[in-house]
Amino acid sequence: MKHIAIIGNGISGVSAARHIRKHSDHKITLISAETEHFFSRTALMYVYMGHMKYENIKPYEDNFWAKNRIDLKMAYVSSIDPNKKELQFKSGESMNYDQLILACGSKPNKFGWKGQDLKGVQGLYSWQDLESMEEYTQGIKRAVIVGGGLIGVEMAEMLLSRGIAVTFLVREKRFWGSVLPKEEGELISRHIKSHHVDLRFETELEEVIPDENGRAKAIRTKSGEEVECQFVGLTAGVSPNIEFLKDSGIETQRGIMVNEFLETNVEGVYAIGDCAQFHEHPTGRRNIEQVWYTGKMMGETVAQSICENKTAYKPGIWFNSAKFFDIEYQTYGWVWAQAKENDEVLYWEHEDGTKCLKLVYDKNDNSFLAANVFGIRLRHRQMDAWIANKTSIHQVIENLNKANFDPEFYENHLESAKNKFKKEITVSA
Ligand SMILES: Cc1cc2nc3c(=O)[nH]c(=O)nc-3n(C[C@H](O)[C@H](O)[C@H](O)COP(=O)(O)OP(=O)(O)OC[C@H]3O[C@@H](n4cnc5c(N)ncnc54)[C@H](O)[C@@H]3O)c2cc1C
Repeated sequence: MKHIAIIGNGISGVSAARHIRKHSDHKITLISAETEHFFSRTALMYVYMGHMKYENIKPYEDNFWAKNRIDLKMAYVSSIDPNKKELQFKSGESMNYDQLILACGSKPNKFGWKGQDLKGVQGLYSWQDLESMEEYTQGIKRAVIVGGGLIGVEMAEMLLSRGIAVTFLVREKRFWGSVLPKEEGELISRHIKSHHVDLRFETELEEVIPDENGRAKAIRTKSGEEVECQFVGLTAGVSPNIEFLKDSGIETQRGIMVNEFLETNVEGVYAIGDCAQFHEHPTGRRNIEQVWYTGKMMGETVAQSICENKTAYKPGIWFNSAKFFDIEYQTYGWVWAQAKENDEVLYWEHEDGTKCLKLVYDKNDNSFLAANVFGIRLRHRQMDAWIANKTSIHQVIENLNKANFDPEFYENHLESAKNKFKKEITVSA
């Protein structure tokens, strides 16, 4: 029996712990400095908005851990000595392990803005961030959010739910410009504005201005404009939370460097989830993946290797989903913000401007590559199969209705998309 220590009780660490227990009798210690029990980070916004309580976002009962012989330790690991196989905690204690899994997640980016550490200036990542947001947004009138991505929209929705006006600064020309192509970016930008968010493009933060108590009272943009506000949300992306590994000898770049088996350069030390960076991604996509389901998959994969069944990470087709206020978003395969040379793109948008579908295929062999969909829910399994099987775009269009999720309860807009695509593809053929 080995002692497996896991740093991080997020989705990656917890998935690893659960699957190690399923396949072995190893001693497991799950360590976190954030909360005693695992909670769903993606549901943080609903706690702020009053839809849920903390108890509701814990996926397991509190007695689950003892029942499954997973020891919980609430402590901050300040350093690691891989030669001695020892963790040092901030409290001064230490702990030995046989194998170590680093599942230490991300932290919000701060780009050295003047005033970024003032009171009332923060990102939204941890439970502590939520508590601090709760404290600093009590009774305030206006907030400024910096950085247009998924967490920024969530923060805008949270603040608006309490009647706080929001100014949203986005560096790019359109919303989430590094990820969304022009049409989708414009659709979402319109939707955000329709919620009365003061959305400003090509606008960058210069500094946060303090009041006499060291709390944010305004921001100044790079073009010199001042916006009065009592809270500043920093949502310009996240990066791996790895400072404590500095002197450990474990190789890092932006994240912790791993191979396809999620092994670091130190034997017996693995990294999974948001904090892991592939030397080379097994499927050629971006080498750091900061989404929920890939963290879960990495946790399950590393558990196999630790339980004597060495397994490579094989994530399959890229998928992501989110919600921008009222509009659901799903993406299948890789839709680039700027189409690649061999990409041919078909785009349909509903006349109400809140639903769209984009299909991308390879112009050389007509094989279906990827899709973006807003305001309509598609069947994951169907989309996955079409992309994995390199199905011809003609066949995909002909059978588009099969991808409609739960047609009994949702209006089917795919017929209209199908008709448009059929015409376009015949003309271009
Ligand atoms: C507001 C928000 C909304 C999101 N929405 C979505 C979504 O809709 N869909 C989606 O796919 N993804 C979403 N994400 C991203 C997703 O939540 C993350 O990809 C995922 O939670 C990462 O899981 P993880 O287990 O790798 O790390 P984490 O969940 O970050 O867990 C790491 C844990 O390790 C602890 N830790 C780190 N270092 C130490 C240390 N030295 N000592 C002790 N403990 C330590 C941290 O405190 C933390 O508790 C969202 C993220 C946020 C913040």
